[in-house]
Amino acid sequence: MPEPQDLERRATELLQRLIRFNTVNPPGDEEEAQRFLAGLLDKAGFETELLAAVEGRPNLIARLRAESDGPTLVLLGHVDTVLADPADWSVDPWSGELKDGCVWGRGALDMKSQVAAEIAAAVALAEEGWRPEAGELKVIVTADEEAGAEHGAQWLCEQHPDKVRCDLVVNEGAGQVLEYDGKRLYGVCAAEKGVFRFTLTTRGRAGHASIPRIGDNALTKMAPVLEALKAGQPKYELSPEPEGLISALGLDTGDLEATLRQIEENDPRVAVLIEPMLGVTLTPTMISASEKINVIPARADLKVDCRVPPEMGTEHALRRIREVVGEDGFGVEFGETVEGNRSPVDTPLMGHIRSFIAREDPDAEVAPVVLPGFSDSRWFRHAFPDCVAYGFFPQRKMDLFEAAPLIHGADERIPVEDLGMAARFYAGLAEEVLR
Ligand SMILES: [Zn+2]
Repeated sequence: MPEPQDLERRATELLQRLIRFNTVNPPGDEEEAQRFLAGLLDKAGFETELLAAVEGRPNLIARLRAESDGPTLVLLGHVDTVLADPADWSVDPWSGELKDGCVWGRGALDMKSQVAAEIAAAVALAEEGWRPEAGELKVIVTADEEAGAEHGAQWLCEQHPDKVRCDLVVNEGAGQVLEYDGKRLYGVCAAEKGVFRFTLTTRGRAGHASIPRIGDNALTKMAPVLEALKAGQPKYELSPEPEGLISALGLDTGDLEATLRQIEENDPRVAVLIEPMLGVTLTPTMISASEKINVIPARADLKVDCRVPPEMGTEHALRRIREVVGEDGFGVEFGETVEGNRSPVDTPLMGHIRSFIAREDPDAEVAPVVLPGFSDSRWFRHAFPDCVAYGFFPQRKMDLFEAAPLIHGADERIPVEDLGMAARFYAGLAEEVLR
């Protein structure tokens, strides 16, 4: 096992360097950063390959193989970031500045930090002569995650499955400590919700707006729908991940309404985060009606961003929509639909995470969580149904409440100590799994 201080220093320097490559997506321009990372891994003894769906935007695959068969562990990350407006920041977002014990810059949390910790661990292990006793360690750094992965993980998993095939994946999605009612808890992202966006349409009859009752206004028919969406919510429902999480918090999984009320009273910030894990959510985001201010609209369209628990489809979504807004007076049409995905929660990989946390933070617990959004894990779970993919980047110094608003926000930064902790986890995991 590499020295902890060495891992922390390597991860810190690597993150600073990575932030200085501007990989804002679009356009991404990941090539320079990927070549730099490939060079580091190559020098340490990995076989490296850059595979690009489009020019200038390669994905990186680095492998360290054992002589004998065994599991393939993938340390996964993406090197692109969302944009940053320097005017909102107190440092240059591409400076990688080290200040107040943190590395600052776009990607410091999402997710150049994890890429840096994973590669620092992989390179440190390989440089001290470590090789897997069985199986294979793969480091995969994708392009294009922030814009949907068409040229990144999706393309790799669909066009080059043999190159990225694996049994275990560690990716982004969770890991910052959460404090609640005297408990400390580290989340492991074991599942991702599905996306079932839909358009709700009301209809009426056009007419001149100067004579209100000459027509039948489709827009005002939206008022009760919006009221219902504001006031109500679909029934809470339990699945394996929130069940594990609520139990780890020492709360009752029987009466979810009462449990949520209790959490809300204790710490509303926790309720805000747990609620979306407990079923379908409906968030109206866009509305349109008449194109002219003086014409009564014959049709109004409301777009609703709807997220559905893993492995559930349109029918389930529709049932929950009806519960909240009723049955009559409008039409519902689904646009983009993507079913959510999950990995089992009781696995040896979860065991490794538990024992790591037991060593690092003995009083804390580990619990599975569902990501309300999605990440590259989705493509791996889909392409390799037997693989176990978890999102886990442990952070103890900066907790979930501090980190969450910085992701995709201004002054994104990460404590150096957390980079060290994460690098220790990835190095230890490779040693434990690949033997
Ligand atoms: Zn990300």
